[in-house]
Amino acid sequence: MTPPQILISEVGPRDGLQSVQATMPTADKLRWIDALVAAGLREIEVGSFVPARLLPQMADVAEVVRHALTYPGITVMALAPNLRGAEAALAAGVHKVTLPVSASAAHSLANVRKTREAMVEEVRAVARLRDAQAPGSMLVEVGLSTAFGCSLQGEVPEDDVIWLAGLCAEAGADEVGLSDTSGMANPAQVRRLFTRLRAELGAKAGAAHMHNTRGLGLANCLAAYDVGVRTFDASLGGLGGCPYAPGASGNVVTEDLVFMFEAMGITTGVDLKRLMAARAPLQAGLPGEPVYGMTPEAGLPKGWVQR
Ligand code: ZN
Repeated sequence: MTPPQILISEVGPRDGLQSVQATMPTADKLRWIDALVAAGLREIEVGSFVPARLLPQMADVAEVVRHALTYPGITVMALAPNLRGAEAALAAGVHKVTLPVSASAAHSLANVRKTREAMVEEVRAVARLRDAQAPGSMLVEVGLSTAFGCSLQGEVPEDDVIWLAGLCAEAGADEVGLSDTSGMANPAQVRRLFTRLRAELGAKAGAAHMHNTRGLGLANCLAAYDVGVRTFDASLGGLGGCPYAPGASGNVVTEDLVFMFEAMGITTGVDLKRLMAARAPLQAGLPGEPVYGMTPEAGLPKGWVQR
């Protein structure tokens, strides 16, 4: 395979599993992550450092991280909603921690019960903690949620998003990405905002985290690619991502995203056949849970060869 030109960051074991009712047994999680690694994914968000009473699905996160750290060359990511979670993530040895910071003032209060400015201070505290305890170790990534619109507040001013991204970078975030948490983005908006983000942050401009709630997930990823974004979050089987529209997936489906880019000649490093095979351990661990994906349903086109 040709060296990958883009990075697909698999968020299913975190974003996916935290959005479903059932709890996937640890052994199944590990088998699923093994299959994701075997498919060639190089960055995987394996869980969330949150109290088990809030999210029992993530009670085993430290064990899952320990397992994931045994793979050579894999960036092991985890989400932490606050300093305490980031402290646990650092102790567990994750390579990269993601802190969710809401671009929408209303979503911030509802989701983390903090103002946006208070969350920026949380980012600063996490970066300081890392620098004090293990400088040069865990990267601190901010995912700016509701960056393209908010189901509570409606429109989120683009100036707010860029202002907040600048504050997070200044507070010590190594990367700041944009998330379409409620699936409201469109390609023109994605182009505008990522262009501004890259102008504002340079190399600290991070991933596109797109949802497919209204069917625009792939179009939005392509729009982000066109303006220079090279890291894309996606979830196997489109698991999770709080879908609002019945029958629509939440997160962009990893299989469809890999198919699109590979078909265009943009290499991902991910073997599509093995990726589709990774659906089996996912479904074994979450029986009855719907999985999405047009490519797995239709199958690969006749004569498909992955370069
Ligand atoms: Zn998501």
